[in-house]
Amino acid sequence: MSSLRPSALDAFFAPLERLAGIGPKLGELFDKLLGRTEGKARLLDVLLHLPVDLVDRSLSPSIADAPSEGIVTIKATVEAHKPAPPGRSRAPARVIVGDDTGDVTLVFFRLPQKQLESMLPLGATRIISGKIELFDGLRQMVHPERILPVAKFSAEDAFEPIYPLTEGLTSRRVQNVAKAALEKIKPLPEWLDETLMTRHGWPGFATALQRLHVPRSFEDRAPDCPAYKRLAYDELLAGQLALQILRAREKGPRGRVLKGTGVLREKLLGALPYRLTHAQERSLQEISADMESDERMLRLLQGDVGAGKTVVALLAMAQAVEAGAQAALMAPTEILARQHFDRIAPMAEAAGLRCALLTGRAGSAERNSVLKRLAAHEIDILIGTHALFQEDVVFADLGLAVVDEQHRFGVHQRLALAKKGAAVDLLVMTATPIPRTLVLGYFGDLDVSALDEKPPGRKPIDTRLVSAERLEDVIAGVGRAIHAGAQVYWVCPLVKASENEPGNAEEGRILMNVEERCHALQRRFPGKVGMVHGQMPGPEKDAAIAAFASGELAVLVATTVIEVGVDVPQASIMVIEEAQHFGLAQLHQLRGRVGRGAEKSNAILLYSAPLSENARARLEIMRETEDGFRIAEEDLRLRGEGDLLGTRQSGMPGFTIARLDIHQDLLKIAREDAILIYTRDPKLETPRGEALRHLLYLFERDAALKLPEAG
Ligand code: ADP
Ligand code: MG
Repeated sequence: MSSLRPSALDAFFAPLERLAGIGPKLGELFDKLLGRTEGKARLLDVLLHLPVDLVDRSLSPSIADAPSEGIVTIKATVEAHKPAPPGRSRAPARVIVGDDTGDVTLVFFRLPQKQLESMLPLGATRIISGKIELFDGLRQMVHPERILPVAKFSAEDAFEPIYPLTEGLTSRRVQNVAKAALEKIKPLPEWLDETLMTRHGWPGFATALQRLHVPRSFEDRAPDCPAYKRLAYDELLAGQLALQILRAREKGPRGRVLKGTGVLREKLLGALPYRLTHAQERSLQEISADMESDERMLRLLQGDVGAGKTVVALLAMAQAVEAGAQAALMAPTEILARQHFDRIAPMAEAAGLRCALLTGRAGSAERNSVLKRLAAHEIDILIGTHALFQEDVVFADLGLAVVDEQHRFGVHQRLALAKKGAAVDLLVMTATPIPRTLVLGYFGDLDVSALDEKPPGRKPIDTRLVSAERLEDVIAGVGRAIHAGAQVYWVCPLVKASENEPGNAEEGRILMNVEERCHALQRRFPGKVGMVHGQMPGPEKDAAIAAFASGELAVLVATTVIEVGVDVPQASIMVIEEAQHFGLAQLHQLRGRVGRGAEKSNAILLYSAPLSENARARLEIMRETEDGFRIAEEDLRLRGEGDLLGTRQSGMPGFTIARLDIHQDLLKIAREDAILIYTRDPKLETPRGEALRHLLYLFERDAALKLPEAG
């Protein structure tokens, strides 16, 4: 596919600083606002930085008819000044203004009388907006928001868009820059289906931008209005279309057939101390069928923490090996890679599979040896971290790649791994249950298997919310429990020292609460408490986890590094400090570290009052349910899809305009639209296809156009 950017887009991609009136200083503020650290903010960025709300400053027909709620704007004549009585500087000054229908008393505290009189000269007519309240039956307005001479008021000012801001910028400033940008852009061909636009009453792309940045009626209020929805749809369609192209590229016309003999699988199953659950069997069948077909497998295996994904992955890898190929399993962290290795290797090797571990920590001799054996096909299963992406890692014959914890991997990394072999089958595993709607949005290119049933015999986790004031009781309880042989995770949040000093957050020192808590607990329970956090050297981390896993330590004080994958089945108590700071998904992941063994488990969520309404709701949900899919839905409801998947750390293609809590219905339409477009015009060569290329560039999905041809 040709990947030249259409020239009609040039103005969109021009730097913002090229606009009159934007110097380096203002430019920097916009870079910050628009999230451009590398590369300067462009016209496009400010145009797609949409208002989130609208203030109605349209003129009330009269004072008598002015609504008593919200901001109102009236046109009134100054009738009298009533200055604060001399010597009583705290008392307010009043100004009476009125029209034919009634009066309003404007109330000002601590404003010099001179200034008031020049702003509101006796007898002058002004446009005044603010909130009107009734006070002893009289209308009054305390500190009007805005006072304008009539000549300065225009219809354009009547509806004021409210933008997300950064310190130093006002909504008005952003609007002015957006207006200037609107004047520079060129018309683009329409890429949406006309019928669809008519059905929804959507305007064209440029008109939609104009309506949102320069609203002419209260109907243009984000995010429900047709203009906003049109742009949300554009963004979703760009995403879905890119996924279709990517999927075709990854699938290719032909994959390879990885048909197993069943020999290794039999051995592995025979050695398991348990039987597979129905959900595991079903998922495995789906995976097997994909591997046996000559289409490339692109499958997501979704399952809550502890649902038993590992063994499914192992059995899939065994099938690849039976078919004469190699398999790789990639984990997002060192700890997790090592743990997968420790658990998989003994099982696999007992069945005759040769396993190796490759992480960034491997010494060069060890690394070279692994690479040599890998290339000579003396390794069947390679387990590791991102280190597996490196160019010098060459497989003799990679057939299946399993990627654990997908949400931390981007599409590009997936592609990089797939390049390690010809038509590699791909199995992606995620332990973050993802609501159906989101699966479509983010993983629209993947088939999905779900482990929606937990292995039998799991006891429910007793979850309690406990005020931090009762910390002493909790510590005493932990003491009794470890005396009786229990093992305890104790999770502390990372707190930025400067969290409350705006503008300084980045440089903020990270306070390790975890160290303080660890020392305090060590004093109470000498020799029984260890610690693990992300800033410790790798070998120390491993040693602490190993000591906890072996039972040598009774308490492991940790940050959220234990969130993924740390598996010590006999640990039965999870204490989470400052639980109100954690998101639902994270609390769920953390709690999932316990309840894995036969013991009945407890989770204690320590919180500090006062709790915001939202924080309370999160904690209540945690107490109510252990169902990861329900928790994910609630999470979506409570905070929108924004960081549900931790988009920031993952580099997942996020959405800036579309909000899946509001625009879900659009996602489905966009997906169907994208499938249809791709089926009819895979190379985007028809007039509509050409128009759609613009769309892909505008929403930064143009990488899809640059993929090598499928084949
Ligand atoms: P996940 O990776 O999905 O979080 P794991 O694969 O780590 O879950 O499995 C959690 C635990 O459940 C492991 O100790 C594993 O041995 C055990 N397990 C897996 N499948 C079953 C099963 N069918 N019956 C009983 N226990 C199982
Ligand atoms: Mg797992």
